[in-house]
Amino acid sequence: MEFYKKAKEEVIEEFLVDTKTGLNHEQILKQRELHGENKLPDEEEESYLATFLKSFKEPIVIVLLGAVALSFASSYYAFQFQNDSKHGMEALYEAIAILILIIINAFLGFYQEISARKSLNALKEMNNRYVTVLRNGQFEKILSTELVTGDIVKASIGDFVEADVRWIETNELQVIESHLTGEADAISKHTDAILETTELGDRHNMGFSGSSVSGGQGLGIVVAVGEHTELGKIAKLIQAVENRTSPLQNTVHKLTKTLMQVSAGIVAFTLVVGIIQAGELSIASITSVLSTSIALAVASIPDALPAVLSIVLTIGAAKMAKNKGLIKSLNSVETLGSTSYICSDKTGTLTKNEMTVTHFYTNGHYYEVSGLGYTPEGEIRSLSDAEQEPSYSAFIAGGLLCNESALKEVEGKFVPFGNPTEIALTVLGQKAGRTKTQLLESHELIRTLPFTSDRKTMSVIVKKGDNYLLYIKGAPDVLVEKSRALLIDGELNTEESEKQKFITTVNDYANEALRTLAVGYRILSKEEAEQGQLEDLEKDIILTGVAGIIDPAREEVKASVKTLQDASVEVVMITGDHENTARAIAYNLGIVKSKEAKVIKGIEIEEMTDEELYAVVKTTNVYARVSPEHKQRIVKQLQKHGEVVGMTGDGVNDAPALRAADIGIAMGIAGTEVTKDSADLILLDDKFTTIEKTVENGRTIYANIKNFIRHELTTNVAEVLSLILGLLFFTVSIGNVDYTTPTLTALMVLWVNMVSDAVPSFALGYDVAESDIMNEKPRDPKESVLANYTWSRVLIRGTIMGLMVFVAFVWAAKQGMSSNEAQTVAFLTLVYGQLWHVFDARSSQTLFRRNPFGNPRLVLAVVFAGISSFLVTIIPFFNVVMGTAPLSLPVYLLVLFVPALPTFILSGIKEIFKVKIW
Ligand code: ATP
Repeated sequence: MEFYKKAKEEVIEEFLVDTKTGLNHEQILKQRELHGENKLPDEEEESYLATFLKSFKEPIVIVLLGAVALSFASSYYAFQFQNDSKHGMEALYEAIAILILIIINAFLGFYQEISARKSLNALKEMNNRYVTVLRNGQFEKILSTELVTGDIVKASIGDFVEADVRWIETNELQVIESHLTGEADAISKHTDAILETTELGDRHNMGFSGSSVSGGQGLGIVVAVGEHTELGKIAKLIQAVENRTSPLQNTVHKLTKTLMQVSAGIVAFTLVVGIIQAGELSIASITSVLSTSIALAVASIPDALPAVLSIVLTIGAAKMAKNKGLIKSLNSVETLGSTSYICSDKTGTLTKNEMTVTHFYTNGHYYEVSGLGYTPEGEIRSLSDAEQEPSYSAFIAGGLLCNESALKEVEGKFVPFGNPTEIALTVLGQKAGRTKTQLLESHELIRTLPFTSDRKTMSVIVKKGDNYLLYIKGAPDVLVEKSRALLIDGELNTEESEKQKFITTVNDYANEALRTLAVGYRILSKEEAEQGQLEDLEKDIILTGVAGIIDPAREEVKASVKTLQDASVEVVMITGDHENTARAIAYNLGIVKSKEAKVIKGIEIEEMTDEELYAVVKTTNVYARVSPEHKQRIVKQLQKHGEVVGMTGDGVNDAPALRAADIGIAMGIAGTEVTKDSADLILLDDKFTTIEKTVENGRTIYANIKNFIRHELTTNVAEVLSLILGLLFFTVSIGNVDYTTPTLTALMVLWVNMVSDAVPSFALGYDVAESDIMNEKPRDPKESVLANYTWSRVLIRGTIMGLMVFVAFVWAAKQGMSSNEAQTVAFLTLVYGQLWHVFDARSSQTLFRRNPFGNPRLVLAVVFAGISSFLVTIIPFFNVVMGTAPLSLPVYLLVLFVPALPTFILSGIKEIFKVKIW
């Protein structure tokens, strides 16, 4: 029989679990053995072989394979028809060497993909979900994958139901099961058996894996885990694909594609030039330019770019996670760089969420409380009349009964459990010599109406003797609205002046940056107490008092706010707290500059049309008494202004606002599982400062990517240009150099692209931030990575470098050097020119702006590239394969230092005349 048809006692018995203690260690092991882990079958990962072979489908590799085919053909032709074994061998070596490079490239790509996958999996793992479960007599938080059948789980608002459960206790429990039933509204749950056969959506005593708790609390017994759950049965249909490619990756992909087309055009062009120069269409005329064509095909594509890009993005994400900002998709790295608004909660993010009641007003009297923190040591002192007997017992009792927190003494230290606002009241109670346990001896707890940030209240219903009472606590303005009288000197008082005094007190507390919380009660009938609806219960309250609670601001936040403001990122506080508290804290943290700054309240937003809200969002930095749905409206209006918005949230109702934001930010510790699920960024330490660091990381990674793209493309332009110049203008043999000799051999070009240029480019991806990166404006999200002088910088620098390589080649020929020597001169001019240029490329301005040793990886990479490129000119094996030749010392010195000139001269002019285009 299905579990929903059984009485809860039957289900409990079936799993042999004690509902007071939960499963014990042996039972857990046994259940796990029986039903396995609580995991859905993993998405099939691509096999290693498939990953390896994937790189052969890359467009670049296809071009290179084409080059191999051409080289083989050329070799065959030379041996077979021209009897030119020198040429034949050269072409053969070329073909083999390119093939080897393709294989090395495939291994590199494979290695990169696997390590990227590992980083991503590690990130995913950090993003695991947790559940509260009763085991061995204690409630504990465990990874949701560790749940077993028979476990007793506790689900509260904001939790996911992580397995299929049969509810055995519910307290106003409401659950959203839209992923299974399509029904978007919350469903109330109960514990009674359902006798008739029903559809999933009507099984109101069951909870299903993947649903979220939108209200109340429940205790359930796990009846199915992993693939045996209802979700597991349909999991294959809805497995989410998270691996979206980022806009940057798309841009680069498009760029490579375009460059391939350009490359095909250039190759066709060289063949035509060859034919024209030879004056006839013959195999000989084609082979005369074939080596140049192959070199050109290789030169025009930035081979290493896509691989470097994806690895830099993933490693960037891993680095952010190390700094406590966990991002969930690579897209966010880019978006972070253009974030222009950070809307943050107050409590816990900007403040410490360590609450202490320092003042309260009750029964018409003011009190001050000493002692900060959760140690219940301190005195309550009357401010109204020091002589008078304390008369705060009704207020303290309300605050303790309407309270789910606890304070336990563990090894001489007080350890708080529960919500900090409630802990503050528990501590206050103890300072007054009262505890909830004492009160429960005379009060029987009947119902709890949990706190929600929409209502901003929480109530309990208790039975005292034959009387039923509702105790309520919540935002004072809300409670005042719901009240009919105040308790003043033990009497009910309905005078307007007393009400005004109460309101003034609340405002005064709030002006001092204190969080305010009012307490009240109401007498109920038995029927109301047992069956009354929430809306009918929380009304006609008698106010007993209000507490002023200090929640100290986090010290480091002020500096972070300033850094973000300097980076032209607006910081906005959106809080559920009182207007004056919000303003005072915002002022203390530098979010607003005036003590009278404008604050918009939730009710005002409610009355505004979207157009009205649009008109004020850009000039408002503090919103108070806001409900979660207001957050979403604020995000949307800011986005209409073209702003890129990061929005924090911790409660379950914040999820839509987080999804609407460009960067939804959830708290890793205090946040609910549902908010974490809808977020793009999870703050593992809940700290606002982490947002600032993540924004800075995002900007740095983007700038680095931009730098290496620029550097790589400059090389390509230089290579293509030097080869084309050779083809067009080196039409008469000079000295020992035949006019068909290309400026660079294909293998030299490959060496540059894959070694001497790629290695430093890769190091550019790891560069530290340029010192003023947080003084700049956020990047325009619509702007391509190639915009803003990127192209002009690439073209101008590349053209000058290309000219230089060609001139070096002609100069070498005129000096009487051999073909190989002249090509080696050209090759080294290019390599060393680019190794100088890389120091310029790493700055958004010029190389003079940055310490060249600031990135040790880059220095190492440059030294490696410089030395290895020198070695390939003196090691005979490479001489044969690559067509290099040893040079004399003076020539080595010339090719090492002369190519530095363009970089230094252009950068110098740029510094002096503030030119931007190169
Ligand atoms: P933020 O949105 O910045 O985190 P917040 O935590 O103050 O701010 P809410 O949690 O929505 O926002 O609280 C709003 C108000 O509700 C508080 O100012 C307080 O008066 C009241 N409140 C908070 N927690 C409780 C609670 N557990 N029981 C009753 N009332 C509460």
